Amino acid sequence: MEEKVYEVPADWAKRAYVDDTKYRAMYEASVRDPEAFWGEHGKRIHWFHPYHRVKNTSFAQGKVSIRWFEDGTTNVAYNCIDRHLPARAKQTAIIWEGDDPAESRHVTYQELHDEVCRFANVLRNRGVGKGDTVTIYMPMIPETAFAMLACARLGAIHSVVFGGFSPDSLASRIADCRSKVVITADEGLRGGRKVPLKANTDAALERLGNTVEHVVVVRRTGGAVNMEPGRDVWYHEAAKMVTSECPAVEMNAEDPLFILYTSGSTGQPKGVLHTTGGYLVYAAMTHQYVFDYHDGDIYWCTADVGWVTGHSYIVYGPLANGATTLMFEGIPTYPSISRFWDVVDKHKVNVFYTAPTAIRSLMQAGEEPVTRTSRASLRLLGTVGEPINPEAWEWYHRVVGEGRCPIVDTWWQTETGGILITPLPGATRLKPGSATRPFFGVKPEIVDAEGKVLEGPAEGNLVIADSWPGQMRTVYGDHKRFMDTYFSTYPDKYFTGDGCRRDADGYYWITGRVDDVINVSGHRMGTAEVESALVAHPKVSEAAVVGYPHDIKGQGIYAYVTLMAGEQPSEDLRKELVAWVRKEIGPIASPDLIQFAPGLPKTRSGKIMRRILRKIAEDEFGNLGDTSTLADPAVVDDLIHNRQNKR
Ligand code: ATP
Ligand code: MG
Repeated sequence: MEEKVYEVPADWAKRAYVDDTKYRAMYEASVRDPEAFWGEHGKRIHWFHPYHRVKNTSFAQGKVSIRWFEDGTTNVAYNCIDRHLPARAKQTAIIWEGDDPAESRHVTYQELHDEVCRFANVLRNRGVGKGDTVTIYMPMIPETAFAMLACARLGAIHSVVFGGFSPDSLASRIADCRSKVVITADEGLRGGRKVPLKANTDAALERLGNTVEHVVVVRRTGGAVNMEPGRDVWYHEAAKMVTSECPAVEMNAEDPLFILYTSGSTGQPKGVLHTTGGYLVYAAMTHQYVFDYHDGDIYWCTADVGWVTGHSYIVYGPLANGATTLMFEGIPTYPSISRFWDVVDKHKVNVFYTAPTAIRSLMQAGEEPVTRTSRASLRLLGTVGEPINPEAWEWYHRVVGEGRCPIVDTWWQTETGGILITPLPGATRLKPGSATRPFFGVKPEIVDAEGKVLEGPAEGNLVIADSWPGQMRTVYGDHKRFMDTYFSTYPDKYFTGDGCRRDADGYYWITGRVDDVINVSGHRMGTAEVESALVAHPKVSEAAVVGYPHDIKGQGIYAYVTLMAGEQPSEDLRKELVAWVRKEIGPIASPDLIQFAPGLPKTRSGKIMRRILRKIAEDEFGNLGDTSTLADPAVVDDLIHNRQNKR
């Protein structure tokens, strides 16, 4: 496919913190002397006691240990709230937009302070203190951010479980981190539908016996719920009994801040542990530079706080920077498919950060739902979560951003705490589909199957050669699993699990999960390239490609294809798509089988689960692996049904 390049727009070159020359100089300095670089940038947060030792990290086999700023002390909530009060008490910290467009709320930094202190006092009265774990199972409301920050204020470790998870998934996550306190709401509200959070919590706790001592229940919808005397308490009642002052506990830089489970795209979710100082420095710094955040900007990340994107780029990064961050309770299609853009216009959003899955689904409905809105306030667009197909990138750029907003395609993981590979809007020429260049302090390498480091333009497996402050420290309670999962495939390096290509300009292109690589007649192929070719066809909205056993080629290419709204599957279209891929990439990439699918199996965070598609393609219906993170199990039944019909 021909390569398009987008130059840095002139207005961006003027306003941005960093231009290309500065990026190169800062990057160079950051990898030449990480101690000096992070020693300087660590000062962006407030330390009660300053650090003297900046970096103490080892990726050595069997001895992996990661410590940043280890003799410094600080508090995350203090940094996200208290230190802003002299200048920003009256500034909006959180804009909340409800599921119902008639509902919204502005929370100032002073109000944030008072609410977080109250929440912390309610928790403290229930015995929560430094080192205790608290599970948060909440909808997207400001109280969720208050609860997270309240834990941070007390030094308690939160584990946020996405509100879309079932009682079983919630129960296993509560058990895994042994929480004695759970914070939930009566019900959530998404797309006009109620989500029975308290009832789910009750069901989860029933499975666990009596291990949870306190359930704090925030009233959201006012729906009727069961309250267990002695265990359950209404937050609004408990909050009346406490003051709005609560000291921020002095924490060591390496004290745990939170546990968060990965999305489960490639297998059973991992309980990722992040700590205090390095995480906050990294989340705040990436938020400022990647989104080029300036005072007064209105910034909106559409993720749920149940995912790491919500942790780092709705709550901690923006608030550490004294930003105004928008939190959205609803979904992109309610009450209409223009909702995202209506919210942008209503709150004059300048920076908008979402996922490829959302863009692809909005593309299905055409341009009019976008173009009937103004979007004049938008200045920068972002994406995260999966490789973005160039076709979707172009649409996002041309239709949503009217060609004037750069797109930051940010590659990172739950494990990395913050963005590792990304454009900077004032510095980086953009290539649709490429996450472009490493952020400061990040040393990506591409290795072959044997671990040999490949130089120059190359394709292989993506590893990171040295630590950065936002890196996860361990799998909670299982350091051996941490070392085995991330540091044993390629000794002394952090293995990302992703395949990657580096082009002649040094740009990085994520080609898909290493587990998903297809080997056709000895040619190794990432899934992203074939999928992007399919998505580039005007009738295709989404595609997922997997390998399946093939007598002659070793592996054949099996493509699941979702069509644009209004398009019908047909034998002719099937042939047309095979010919299309052949023309776009070459004969080697032509799909052997195409299954038209009304929907693809996705994690609850919106990523395509190819491991399930692979099983279906291999006819292994009885052995689909961990399906607990699947958003809509009916999609899988449907795919199996159609697959079976075909034989
Ligand atoms: P699990 O680790 O449980 O299998 P997961 O990897 O989907 O689940 P996350 O931490 O939410 O869990 O996702 C990180 C992964 O998402 C990355 O490893 C990468 O495959 C993908 N990803 C994220 N952002 C991008 C991006 N901008 N471009 C390409 N891929 C991305
Ligand atoms: Mg992963």
